[in-house]
Amino acid sequence: MKRHEFELDDLIKRIKENDNRLVALQVPEGLKMQALEMMDAIEEDTSARIILAADPCYGACDLVHDKMQRMGVELVAHMGHSQMNIDSGMPTEFINVTYDGDPAIDPVLPILAMHREIAERRLSEASSKGEISEEEAQERFMDAVGRVSPLKGAKLGLVGSIQHLHLIFDYKERLESAGFEVEVPVGGARLSFPGQVLGCNYSGDRDDIGHYLFLGSGDFHPIGLVLHTGKPLAMLDPYTGGAEEMSFERIEGILRQRFGLILSCDEAKTFGILIGEKPGQMRRNLALRMKKKLEKHGRKGYLMALEHVGPELIDFYPVDAFVNTACPRIAIDDSVRYAKPLLTPFELEVVLGEKKWETGYKFDEIP
Ligand code: SF4
Repeated sequence: MKRHEFELDDLIKRIKENDNRLVALQVPEGLKMQALEMMDAIEEDTSARIILAADPCYGACDLVHDKMQRMGVELVAHMGHSQMNIDSGMPTEFINVTYDGDPAIDPVLPILAMHREIAERRLSEASSKGEISEEEAQERFMDAVGRVSPLKGAKLGLVGSIQHLHLIFDYKERLESAGFEVEVPVGGARLSFPGQVLGCNYSGDRDDIGHYLFLGSGDFHPIGLVLHTGKPLAMLDPYTGGAEEMSFERIEGILRQRFGLILSCDEAKTFGILIGEKPGQMRRNLALRMKKKLEKHGRKGYLMALEHVGPELIDFYPVDAFVNTACPRIAIDDSVRYAKPLLTPFELEVVLGEKKWETGYKFDEIP
């Protein structure tokens, strides 16, 4: 943790220029232990008073909004995430947090070589599509999430979590020197930097990328990336230097669990439809569409808005199941914590017979 760098200079300059008196500091969970240190640093250098926004914070989707305005807060300092395509209604300064861990690529090279072979095989099968029946094609081109692989290339996609992105082009060069054709994908408006991925957005993916390397720690982003793309993925951890792959068995296990939940909703008549109140998670129109679909199929949907989603806040409602339109990862990563099935919108459409499981899993992305 000691080697994380915080860039407070721009924030301090902005506070001084605007003569801000009350500033909210929002810090992601992994850095909260250092929050008091940051508050001291800002208060020592400015005449502002700092209020720590101490609620859980997992992303820039979760910006401090109007409730702090009512407290008199003039500026929000949001740390460790990048700006999204949302407006929280509060002036917000995003503070970069970087980590200079610089692991060698050697341990990950054998995994990447193996994944490149998988990508090249899928690519060559895809290009011979015209010569075999559609049934055979379905058999042969399945990617990790059960889709017909739409590959047009077998490049290595290089992505990372935000605190390591300053190293991404350096790693691109190292991987190219090791013989890989590397692409740093650029995503849509929810992402700010080349190579960036979020747990809910992998919009930089392209048909000429055949496999991925993720620079970062933990399996949160890798699981989402494989569920979204179906492509093999290796991980290089800047904190430990360790290399591993996201195994297809792990992804299969998640898909089996999702399919089990879908089956368990076959007879469900009533659903709670969750709407996230956080600025970057609020998908009201999607929730309304889900309600309409349920009604069309003779089932009932109740719209429920929450700032935080948790089992203790919803389990007791007398409904058969829930569909979640807030953070997509709540259903995927946390569903075992809930007493009733918690589905994504795509999964509800499968329950209702509007989408087919057999044509491949569709990850719930927020664009
Ligand atoms: S994955 Fe969830 S918490 Fe993370 S940015 Fe997306 S909506 Fe927010």
